[in-house]
Amino acid sequence: MKQRTSRPAAGRSGPNNVSVPFLDLKAMHAEIQAELDCAWRAVTSTNAYIGGSVLDRFEGEWAAYCGRRYCIGVANGTDAIELALAASGVGPGDEVIVPANTFIATVEAVIACGARPVLVDIDDRTLLVTADHIRAAVTSRTAAVIVVHLYGQPAGMDEILAFTEPRGLLVVEDAAQAHGARWHGVRAGALGDIAAFSFYPGKNLGAFGDGGAVVTDDAAVASRVRALSTHGVTGASRYHHGVVGRNSRLDALQAAVLSVKLARLGGWNAARRRASLQYGRVLAGVKDARPVANAPEAESSHHLQVVRVPRRDAVRTALADRGVETGVHYPVPCHQHEPYRAFAEGPLPVAERAASEVLSLPMSPHISAEQVMEVCSALREAVEGQVGRAS
Ligand SMILES: *Cc1c(COP(=O)(O)O)cnc(C)c1O
Repeated sequence: MKQRTSRPAAGRSGPNNVSVPFLDLKAMHAEIQAELDCAWRAVTSTNAYIGGSVLDRFEGEWAAYCGRRYCIGVANGTDAIELALAASGVGPGDEVIVPANTFIATVEAVIACGARPVLVDIDDRTLLVTADHIRAAVTSRTAAVIVVHLYGQPAGMDEILAFTEPRGLLVVEDAAQAHGARWHGVRAGALGDIAAFSFYPGKNLGAFGDGGAVVTDDAAVASRVRALSTHGVTGASRYHHGVVGRNSRLDALQAAVLSVKLARLGGWNAARRRASLQYGRVLAGVKDARPVANAPEAESSHHLQVVRVPRRDAVRTALADRGVETGVHYPVPCHQHEPYRAFAEGPLPVAERAASEVLSLPMSPHISAEQVMEVCSALREAVEGQVGRAS
């Protein structure tokens, strides 16, 4: 399948002439355009925009895909984390352990539910939180741990659960980047007590706007998430407000898009995996481009293809000059943002160092083998050029 009919000659095309996009959403949507049109028409023809059968269907599909009993669609991934914590009874007076290497939303959600985040360092090879980091941060006030499957790579759940289970600590998965990822064959979303997903457009499973979901096997917690997300309605009547809730819903048009895309998720993740393996093979020959390690038990969703390079910002500019779009996830660790400085005990050296080195390379289901080669040779030149300059 050919995605592009024309593209600027490789190199020297300037930042406005993109030869390898960071994420090719256009190609994904072109593949399913007819189905999307049909799914949207089905919603507009019934005029059921909030709730209804299209939402019910997607929630059932997503619960089944994750291997969970319950799925509650919510307005975005940040709300999903907050509501998962609140519905599980986490609130004021509680501490929640969170890795410093995550999108800021993970920390915001803890504060929004009234608890105190405790930001911890990460493993130097995987850039994820480990059982050792959790052990070092636990106090008598610790109520929960949020494991973030960052970049799509599941955290080391065997050791984490071996530590948390005997202590009765709640394990919340932030699976916003890990749709379809697995640990020992078990899907992200089914690895802890409760999990939060985001359907932000750029995620592996993305809506045409904001969206999110909570999945769990616990019926009581699931019904509390539902109540909190729909104005605290607890009875059969929609005007019986048994708890103080809010409005945080996944709407039917988004659910319709997500059902169409879910049928493609396995194939799209497999295509990402092929590209990722190719990156790994080619970049093994590039000195000074250090890949983020994957645990053997982990099957990543390959949301982001992250390498660590010296003089990252200069390398990034050199790639942009060759038409290669990149990202940085994330340039500043959570505890170094002004409002969150109080939430780390001291310096978190691994997270701080990684933040200055990480570079996310183009990654999409439709990226071609030639594009991956183009990125790799541009990266090789950029890294070698920078290293040459330094010595
Ligand atoms: C995207 C993301 C979120 C937040 O999701 P939204 O839908 O944007 O609110 C939370 N955590 C991580 C790790 C994310 O990547």
